[in-house]
Amino acid sequence: MDCIFCKIVNGELPSQKVYEDEFAVAFHDINPIAPVHVLTIPKKHISSLLDIGTEDKELIGHLHQVIQNVARITGVDKTGFRVITNIGEHGQQSVHHLHYHVIGGRQLEWKA
Ligand code: 5GP
Ligand code: ZN
Repeated sequence: MDCIFCKIVNGELPSQKVYEDEFAVAFHDINPIAPVHVLTIPKKHISSLLDIGTEDKELIGHLHQVIQNVARITGVDKTGFRVITNIGEHGQQSVHHLHYHVIGGRQLEWKA
């Protein structure tokens, strides 16, 4: 499958990893919008939040715990941060492999 995040998972493409385990990987966004901008993804290819199945319940719970780890590793657990997953055209999703943006390290504003 021609998916850049699957290629990051299998090592075909390089990334700056901050965390990895059997089911998930987290790495710095190539085009960060804040001092901390880490993408947390499942190793399993799931196209977006809309494609999460009942069989993925445990995986999604795990991803939330990975996000906690990412926050602690990058230090934003102390200052606050935002978690975003973009979906489809209006959500401006550009990579169709489920990913959670973990953004922080500066004061964020709320704008849609
Ligand atoms: P989306 O727009 O789909 O929510 O987010 C995709 C994110 O992936 C973007 O923030 C973009 O900068 C990032 N990205 C795209 N290609 C690569 C890549 O090859 N490596 C890394 N580390 N990030 C990427
Ligand atoms: Zn993929």
